[in-house]
Parts: sequence; C-alpha cells; structure tokens
Amino acid sequence: MEQSFIMIKPDGVQRGLVGEIISRFEKKGFYLKGMKLLTVEKSLAENHYADLSAKPFFPGLVEYIISGPVVAMVWEGKNVVVTGRKIIGATNPSDSAPGTIRGDLAIEVGRNVIHGSDSIESARKEIALWFPEGLT
Ligand code: ATP
Ligand code: MG
Repeated sequence: MEQSFIMIKPDGVQRGLVGEIISRFEKKGFYLKGMKLLTVEKSLAENHYADLSAKPFFPGLVEYIISGPVVAMVWEGKNVVVTGRKIIGATNPSDSAPGTIRGDLAIEVGRNVIHGSDSIESARKEIALWFPEGLT
C-alpha cells in the first residue's frame, strides 16, 4: 500500500497543532504507520532538503527545521502522496486554499507547519531517511 512521509515542523509542534493535524489525516481515512517526536540533527535536515541546497533560503530552512522538536510520521493509504499534498495545501500559505492545513493554520512560507512527500519516490527515500530502524 502507498505510503507518505509527513512531518509536523517545529512551529506546528510549538503551536500545539499536532492533534489537529493528525486528526485531519485520520478523518480522511489514512492509516498511521509510524510516528516519533525528535529534535533533528543538522545533517538530517540538510539531507532531507538536499534538493534545495542551492536556494537562498536553504540555510534558514535548515535552522527552522532544527529549531525545536518535530513529529515525523508515515501515513498509508490509497493515493496518500498526492492526497496528502492536497490536505497540506500550497507551499506558500498566501496561496494555500482555505480548508487545507497551511491555508487554515499558517501565514509565512518559512513557517508553514508541515512537510509532505512530493512523489512516491521521494516518500520511499524520506521514509528510509527518517525511519532507518524501520516501521513496526
Ligand atoms: P515541504 O517539502 O516542506 O513539504 P513543499 O514541497 O511544499 O514543502 P518545497 O519547494 O519542497 O515546498 O520547499 C520546502 C520548504 O522550504 C517549504 O515548505 C518552506 O518551508 C521552505 N521554503 C520554500 N520556499 C521558500 C521561500 N521562498 N522562502 C522561505 N522558505 C521557503
Ligand atoms: Mg518539498
């Protein structure tokens, strides 16, 4: 069954949005397959966003991700990658539709609350990166 890597970023954890976010994925009907709270090593943040390493916002992005604990999760279900991205909404909360997580809960692109894998291939890589111990 298809899986996606979903991460509640430090602002989402600090703002107390963990329950709200998990609830949206649960109510949609997806299955929670793995979850952990962790403070992220700089090397893991850099590796996770390696494709963006040339962007001017990359150093700030890495500092953001390591600024406090995150909730790393694996969600499973039919079309979870694409549907998960729809539930999350557009990257910049100024463009995210109301009803999406970012559209409802965020304002700044640099504090956009949540990450979701952008393809099945990215999901595979990210799940291996964030859950090297595997899923039970
Ligand atoms: P994510 O990968 O976190 O799910 P995304 O796939 O919607 O987000 P990406 O293009 O992969 O968007 O960008 C990764 C993250 O980098 C964004 O979620 C955001 O936190 C940050 N980011 C993207 N563009 C900018 C920008 N112009 N300024 C500041 N931060 C940015
Ligand atoms: Mg992305």
